[in-house]
Amino acid sequence: MRVAVVGAGIGGLTLGIALQRAGIAVDLYERATELREVGAAVALSANGTRELYRLGVGKALEDVSTEPTELVYRDGRTGARIAAHAGGATYRARFGAPYWGIHRVDLQQALAAAVDPGNLHLGKAVAGVAGDERGATITFEDRSTTTADVVVGADGVHSVVREHVCGPDSGPVYSGTSAFRGLVKRTDLPSLPDPLTIQFWAGPGAHLLHYPMGGPARDDDTVNFFAVLCGPSDWSGGTRDAADGELLAAFAGWHPAVVEMLGAVEQSPRWPLLSQPPLTRWSRGRVVLVGDACHAMLPHHGQGANQSIEDAVVLAGLLAGGDVDAALEAYPRRRRARTRAVARSAWETGTLLHRSDDDVEGLAERDARFTTYLDANAWVHHYSASAQPSENATTTSEEVA
Ligand code: FAD
Repeated sequence: MRVAVVGAGIGGLTLGIALQRAGIAVDLYERATELREVGAAVALSANGTRELYRLGVGKALEDVSTEPTELVYRDGRTGARIAAHAGGATYRARFGAPYWGIHRVDLQQALAAAVDPGNLHLGKAVAGVAGDERGATITFEDRSTTTADVVVGADGVHSVVREHVCGPDSGPVYSGTSAFRGLVKRTDLPSLPDPLTIQFWAGPGAHLLHYPMGGPARDDDTVNFFAVLCGPSDWSGGTRDAADGELLAAFAGWHPAVVEMLGAVEQSPRWPLLSQPPLTRWSRGRVVLVGDACHAMLPHHGQGANQSIEDAVVLAGLLAGGDVDAALEAYPRRRRARTRAVARSAWETGTLLHRSDDDVEGLAERDARFTTYLDANAWVHHYSASAQPSENATTTSEEVA
């Protein structure tokens, strides 16, 4: 069996490592000429990190990651702590693997280092895919082609492969929310309480999330922030340059630590937050989707990358069984309900974070949900993609509710 993976992001690289370890020939084709998404960060939870340890890259990542000491929810204006959940060693002991804040470039480079260099092809942008019941052909923008028994679309939210599987109008939709992001030195944040925690600051129509990142080998003290605003109501295209001061104006009157953080770095472009409506099919013939190509979700649960890792591990495990058709049939059965439940939960978290001041009952519900947040969402963190399905608790957000 030979597998060709389109995209060497978090899902594609994880799949490459898992297939290699299963003894399956795999080539990865990545549009970028260099794996260097500088300036971006990602938080990985136990359901992702336990698989990275199992794949042999956990140790390398420990050195460049920070474990937040707590998960804290605050009122964005007063700064009052609404709720807090233990992080660090307590989280690790509870879920069997750590929670990490990490520079995306460090994660990608550690994953790439575990892929046989001869099988990672950079600067290969895929233009299209065609296939039948026995295999598939990739056509690159440089007009070269390659064939494989299985082609996996791990090409992210604007996936070309998804168009082949599901048609041209199957892509993500704008959520009505948008975001700014930035990396700030902790030394530039003297007002910030609990700087080593992952914190949500909630307020009407907006929230701020931040967490520490980097690690012992990095010797940095960076905080990654992600500031989300409701609106504008319509958006087309990618990121936009915002007007000078747009971000700070949206957070006027918020707690001094919030204003200090947002003002500490040059304003980033404004990002549309996209969400993929559930796809009715995840594969066509021998072409199959993983990660954001399949189920891009809002980032309020910090789960998009973790779900891509889980997809990759499950798909590799099924393909290792040797029967491709059976594997591609079983794969969505293993992944569809979970990814939908996580995506729905991320959406709900967004609405909880943005409750208005006059919504007294809504605010009480928000505070109660944040107080039980980690218990209610333990099903997300406990999950083990490499275990047999029967070994995972079936609890989802709906059952908890
Ligand atoms: P990607 O990581 O997007 O990788 C796709 C790869 O395919 C890229 O390398 C791209 O260059 C390549 N590619 C695209 N098109 C082609 C083509 N035609 N030919 C060849 N290659 C191609 N998730 C978390 O778990 N935790 C977080 O804290 C978190 N924070 C986030 C913050 C923000 C601001 C955003 C927007 C998302 C966040 N996510 C987070 C979500 C997470 O980034 C994604 O879910 C994750 O990166 C998806 O991985 P992927 O491999 O499916 O796609």
